Amino acid sequence: MRGLGCCLLTSGLLAGPALVNVAAAATFTLVNLDPAGTGLNDPTVTAPVGGNTGTTVGEQATLVFEYAASLWGAVLDSPVDVRFGASFAPLSCSETSGILGSAGPTTAHKNFTGAPRADTYYVQANANALSGSDLSPATNDLTMQFNGQVGQPGCLSSKAWYYGFDGAAGPTDIDLVSVAAHEIGHGLGFLSLVTLSTGSKFSLEDDAYMVNLEDHDTGLVYPDMTDAERVTASTNTGDLHWIGGAVVAWSGALSAGVHASGHLEMYAPSPMKPGSSVSHFSNSVFPEEMMEPSYTGPNHDVFLSARLLADVGWPLVGCGDGVVGFGETCDDGNNLNGDCCLSSCIFDPAAGACEDGDLCTLGDTCDGTGLCLSGAAVDCEDGNLCTDDSCVSNTGCVNAPNTAACDDGIACSTPDNCSASQCVGNWSCDLDYFKVYKARKVKGTVFTQSSIVVTDLLETKIMILKRPGGFGSPVAVDGSMVEVAEVGLACYKARDASGQPGFAGRRVLTTDVFGNLSLDLKKAVSLCVPGSQDLLTPPAQPPAHEIDEYKCYKTRVSPGTLKFAGAQVSTVDGLETRELVLKKPSLACTAATGVDGLTVFHADRNLVCYKTKDAKTTPKQDKFVRTDMLVNNALGQGQLTLKKPSLLCLPATVVDLGTP
Ligand SMILES: [Zn+2]
Ligand SMILES: [Zn+2]
Repeated sequence: MRGLGCCLLTSGLLAGPALVNVAAAATFTLVNLDPAGTGLNDPTVTAPVGGNTGTTVGEQATLVFEYAASLWGAVLDSPVDVRFGASFAPLSCSETSGILGSAGPTTAHKNFTGAPRADTYYVQANANALSGSDLSPATNDLTMQFNGQVGQPGCLSSKAWYYGFDGAAGPTDIDLVSVAAHEIGHGLGFLSLVTLSTGSKFSLEDDAYMVNLEDHDTGLVYPDMTDAERVTASTNTGDLHWIGGAVVAWSGALSAGVHASGHLEMYAPSPMKPGSSVSHFSNSVFPEEMMEPSYTGPNHDVFLSARLLADVGWPLVGCGDGVVGFGETCDDGNNLNGDCCLSSCIFDPAAGACEDGDLCTLGDTCDGTGLCLSGAAVDCEDGNLCTDDSCVSNTGCVNAPNTAACDDGIACSTPDNCSASQCVGNWSCDLDYFKVYKARKVKGTVFTQSSIVVTDLLETKIMILKRPGGFGSPVAVDGSMVEVAEVGLACYKARDASGQPGFAGRRVLTTDVFGNLSLDLKKAVSLCVPGSQDLLTPPAQPPAHEIDEYKCYKTRVSPGTLKFAGAQVSTVDGLETRELVLKKPSLACTAATGVDGLTVFHADRNLVCYKTKDAKTTPKQDKFVRTDMLVNNALGQGQLTLKKPSLLCLPATVVDLGTP
């Protein structure tokens, strides 16, 4: 019967706006959209009525609209003036039917600063109130059109608008304050933006109104429904419900139209009445509500409808002032949800999520009377033995580093202790002896030369690794124990890159198990890289270790110094057992950073490598049989063919004596 707020109207109809402020918590400014001489500008003289002091029809209609707006302004809170465009000019009308009026919001907004719910449209006036700024300053927040001809001959002449403020409209009158307040309610957000005929969401997003709409048959709320389910819900008479807390909290005051759950019935006739369905309280609600679909008589009470707008997102006057006022079941001094007192100043229902202020509990829930009950204790266990885990209520989990004993999984690294939340080992193994076999790449395989920056205690050079030249196998000598059998040394023939400065030679003092030697170093000839090895299958990278790379210089005993006396040793490595005679020192190898880019682990652990030959034994020792070896190191996987043993490298200290 009544015209409805439904559609988003475009603005731009401003014709000589007359701005009049109405004092309230939310101020409303009427924008007169009528042309001169008609509607709100109708100069027809009339007598003041029911508290309306206007003396022309246009003036009385203007005062009625402002009065109706003030009913909302007294209960809704907004720092932004609500501009409502209104026209009271004649609309299409006959003696038997006509359009009384219509209204609706002008624009809708989502994801503005202060929006309570993401990706959700709020009508303009509500969005302005929540954001604290005018999000569409060029347009009126809502627009209304009323038929000023009603009651005139030829236009529903048996009816008449009643312009009084006192609700004393007679049986054939239509109380303009009631109708105007109803329409303004739609413009403030008492409507869904869903296209009811198809069920499709406005711009494919939720609107703030639909969030509270439930089909009680399925328990689904509008945002979670398919389009088809929304169509069904909107005709599910008696079971289309409003579930917003502010309305439900006061639904007990109604004697009809309320479900046992406290949910309120919304207007859902079948067949659907597009533009009217869903966006009203059910006409079965009793006592009669202003926002029912049909005019039932004067009604200036916006109380329950304002609760509905609070559920939609409107701040209510007095809510958030810390005083439990009329219409409130709580007031905690804010307009936030999630603290057991909803932004509409109603207790959050039991089991609503909240935060008890203790960061050591999770899943806190409201008890329904404003208290936040602590949830389960937070598990601060971080699974790290090197931290002591605890919880502090105002800061949450604390994982404090400790110095407990731990195990880093490296056999040569004991004892281990926690430091800075990590298990740090202390490498306790000595450097092994290495028996070096001559080696080359397996025929048919590829070795890619690489250019490496190598730094040892003597110099930093860019070196070219040319090809594999040897393999150092950890070896037991004269009954010694091998400490790290898993890690061998793949040695690559190397030269300085072109353009690098020459090496002037160096004299060093070395000390190994056979004593001291003064050695003169000549050019560097190889770089040995630690890695894993296996005769059969490509090995994984070696376990964590602290064995360095070694840069090896050709060397000889310094002229005029004590020569190496020679020795015979028994060796056992992973490949063979062999008696070896050690001849003169051939290489001095210094701990270096190179392929793996790591800093040197142990600068004091170097190697002196002696030329070897098979010792004369009876019976004679077998020749070494060439063997292919798979290696894996910082250069990646490689395949070597091992030839005869040629060197024995002994751990040694090396002291730089300068240029000889
Ligand atoms: Zn309506
Ligand atoms: Zn329900």
